[in-house]
Amino acid sequence: MFSKILVANRGEIACRIIRTARRMGVATVAVYSDADREALHVAMADEAVHIGPAPPRESYLRGDRIIEACRETGAEAVHPGYGFLSENADFARQCGQAGVEFIGPGVAAIEAMGSKSAAKSIMEKAGVPLVPGYHEADQSEERLAAAAVDIGFPVLLKAVAGGGGKGMRLVSTADEFAGALAAARREASSSFGDDDMLVEKYLSRPRHVEVQVFCDRHGHAVYLFERDCSVQRRHQKIIEEAPAPGMTPELRRQMGEAAVLAARAIDYEGAGTVEFLLDGQGAFYFMEMNTRLQVEHPVTEMITGQDLVAWQLRVAAGENLPLKQEELRIHGHAFEARIYAEDPDNDFLPATGVLAYLQPPAENPHVRVDTGVLQGDEVSVYYDPMIAKLVVWDENRERALGRLAKALSEYRVSGLSTNISFLYNLATSLPFKNAELDTHFIETHHDLLFHSTDSDRVQDLPLASLYLLLRMERRARERAGGADPHSPWNSSSAWRLNQPSMHTGAIVLNGKPHDVPVVEIGSGDQRRFRITAGPKTVLAAGELSGNELHADIDGYRQRVTVVPHDGQFTLFGRNGAMQFALAQPDLGEEEGQSARDVFSAPMHGVVIKLLADAGAAVEKHQPLLIMEAMKMEHTIRAPAAGTVTEFFFQAGDQVSGGEELLGFSPAKES
Ligand code: ADP
Repeated sequence: MFSKILVANRGEIACRIIRTARRMGVATVAVYSDADREALHVAMADEAVHIGPAPPRESYLRGDRIIEACRETGAEAVHPGYGFLSENADFARQCGQAGVEFIGPGVAAIEAMGSKSAAKSIMEKAGVPLVPGYHEADQSEERLAAAAVDIGFPVLLKAVAGGGGKGMRLVSTADEFAGALAAARREASSSFGDDDMLVEKYLSRPRHVEVQVFCDRHGHAVYLFERDCSVQRRHQKIIEEAPAPGMTPELRRQMGEAAVLAARAIDYEGAGTVEFLLDGQGAFYFMEMNTRLQVEHPVTEMITGQDLVAWQLRVAAGENLPLKQEELRIHGHAFEARIYAEDPDNDFLPATGVLAYLQPPAENPHVRVDTGVLQGDEVSVYYDPMIAKLVVWDENRERALGRLAKALSEYRVSGLSTNISFLYNLATSLPFKNAELDTHFIETHHDLLFHSTDSDRVQDLPLASLYLLLRMERRARERAGGADPHSPWNSSSAWRLNQPSMHTGAIVLNGKPHDVPVVEIGSGDQRRFRITAGPKTVLAAGELSGNELHADIDGYRQRVTVVPHDGQFTLFGRNGAMQFALAQPDLGEEEGQSARDVFSAPMHGVVIKLLADAGAAVEKHQPLLIMEAMKMEHTIRAPAAGTVTEFFFQAGDQVSGGEELLGFSPAKES
């Protein structure tokens, strides 16, 4: 076994690898960029080497610096994690040349699977079933368009070098083809430096079922069963589970054996994942093979009781696979939910900011939290906005799902938007409970999953109101007369005492103000607030200590956490998180979105292309500008017919979130 390894990654996966290495008595070296000086993975490793500025191209993708760091520290092997250099054949080759073991498959296997086209050709020869499509070298628009017509619409364009759903476009009709191809190529070339495309038949409502395989240098190969990763947004997984619901032992064996066949076809070594699409009739088709550890590997670990990182280290050190196929068993059921900094209500746009408050659920044999961040850390534009992976296990699917819902309701994050409430809605929805899974799950059940939380939340208004009252009293006590004239919470126009025992004020929930009149009755131990929220009036009492509110609402006692940040509050209660604020005095804002909102950058990013000329007339909804942020394209469109008076940025310019991108003058109604 190695005595020291370098982990060429960051975030949760770097931490997760370090944990196993430590348990095995292997010393670890972390690498870090300027943005990660204080990061958890750096603190956890035995040694850490600074490798460059924040942008990945200048740090985590600098293979030369990483190999240099191995030399300096005497690390004998590199674990690349996932993403970054994990599937970079050149890097694996350079490791070999430098005498450092790359913990992963051989260069030839990475190369073979690195191109989705080449991979499909190899699998075709090996007899693994494929999705019908075009994966040849001729990349002319005419040839690709003709292939799409032959295959029959709808088709999917995929970047040959793709991954993470990037550079992928669904094309439903022939006239959309050229535009979709251009966009997919742009995204592919900026993400992968390669804009080659393949065309595939777009299967309607398949499931994404993938098989974990493992091979050693001595000719042994096993499959560690399957994971169902059908629940996706923008072709990216958000909840995964193992085993796949409804799997028969026979189909499991067929898919497992096909995956092992695929691995053997490229002389594979280490951990790999063979991804299949599974249709309603039980037919499955090879999609691609990922030649690394997957993000969702923990669900496989939970049901097999194995540590896949330990297996990786052992195989890379030249040992035999720890177990034979017949020694592997499935025990129970596991889910993984990916907790992201993102805004589900805004097309899952990645969010950035500081994790002002962060309290994951407690870990135990049923609940595992793989994370790489701590409270106070920043989710920046430079890296993937995943905050953590919440992994749960129990004896069966139903019980495991119950664990997932509970753990999600206990996951407390504030300071930026997260998908936690969305995941909670998902995990508790009937179709998910019934395992009605396919890759369109989120679109199909849109209304259920995005159900406006208004009505659910109005019931928590008395809690919010009680908190604000107790907090106001506490602040008044603390100041003992020296009220802060700039604080909106003391502002007389927002929440005022207009009679000795009567408070009026409005609480803003999901952007809507709700009047919540409160009457104070009794005194001392008998003091109660009569709070009216919507149609309901309740009697409330409580105590505030730190961020904890002990509340008694009509005799029902509960303890919730309320965290203030940026002039808002997040209440973490039984129903998950609720954001609220105290109504500000009327600022005279117009209804709806202001021009500033429409034309401002949704987040920090780069302007890719201007699509109109300043001064020229444009139609309503016409695309005006494309910007890229967090490796995704965002199109700014005209809200009405009119004229772009000026573009404030040019292609290639960096913009900060919220900055106005262009001036626009709507056409006069004629
Ligand atoms: P990436 O490597 O970018 O993640 P994949 O090829 O793995 O891309 O595909 C990602 C997801 O896109 C799949 O899980 C599936 O939901 C969807 N998908 C891919 N190919 C097809 C197809 N031919 N028909 C329907 N859906 C597909």
